[in-house]
Amino acid sequence: MSVVTVERKVLEKNDELAQLNRELFKKHGTFVINLVSSPGSGKTSLLEKTLEHLNGRVKVAVIEGDVQTDLDAQRVAKFDVPVVQIVTNGGCHLDARLVQDALGKMELGGINLLVIENVGNLVCPAGYDLGEAMKVVIASTTEGDDKPLKYPAMFRNASVLVINKIDLVPYLSCNLAELRANALRINPNLAVFETSCTTGSGVREWSEWLITEAGTTSR
Ligand code: MG
Ligand code: ZN
Repeated sequence: MSVVTVERKVLEKNDELAQLNRELFKKHGTFVINLVSSPGSGKTSLLEKTLEHLNGRVKVAVIEGDVQTDLDAQRVAKFDVPVVQIVTNGGCHLDARLVQDALGKMELGGINLLVIENVGNLVCPAGYDLGEAMKVVIASTTEGDDKPLKYPAMFRNASVLVINKIDLVPYLSCNLAELRANALRINPNLAVFETSCTTGSGVREWSEWLITEAGTTSR
């Protein structure tokens, strides 16, 4: 059996399980985002800022995927939201089965918004459906403006791009307009937000958008 065939079978099995997750989310009216980025782009920081802004207006639960440690889960738990940690022990992405297992430890009833923070990696998480409504990709300005061109699959499969760390632009060679244009060239349908978790800039727009989406799903 060729490597390609094995990989296709793995992804087919994953898609089946993702569909089961999706049906469960639908049943509970839970809007689910799959937060993806390179390591260090600020997924957890954005999540903290978002939870701060939402301030209980939307019932949120979080699944934290990490290669090692529950440090990020601890940061999120401070906001008094249900958190389930998945430690992949070296695994470089979450898959639908891991999420299914995590869902077994979580009560979805009454949850409007579930945030799945994926492992920091822009490659394989692009190919693994977890059952989410959409992938949200974070690209920080420190990574340069050519990120979408280097990892097109992720930007193609995402519905939303959050450009983070915009406060650092004056110190970097990153061209914000170029980053945005590169992303939209790959995927013209991307909704784009610009944020800084240090100054809080853009967090309101992004969070209010999430509230609207979560409200539409649970209706
Ligand atoms: Mg994190
Ligand atoms: Zn992987």
